[in-house]
Amino acid sequence: MHIRKAAVICDRCGAKVEVDPDVKHVIIGPFMEPGEPLAGWLAVEGGRHLCPACAGPYLAKKHEMEAELRRLSGGRTIEFDI
Ligand SMILES: [Zn+2]
Repeated sequence: MHIRKAAVICDRCGAKVEVDPDVKHVIIGPFMEPGEPLAGWLAVEGGRHLCPACAGPYLAKKHEMEAELRRLSGGRTIEFDI
């Protein structure tokens, strides 16, 4: 008997979540329900994946860079509290 296994692995820290191998395309997104195995995971360019712990710093830097690029392109940064 051949046991199939599939997993999503964090490309930064190596954290691993096993997923149903029958699911051909694992959908990862911030819209995942809390409690789902891949909740909080992030798919990034290059087909890489980040676990919730690594997605936080990545997103923080991404937003920071986007704000910086807006500033450098003459755009005004609008600060607001969520
Ligand atoms: Zn990670």
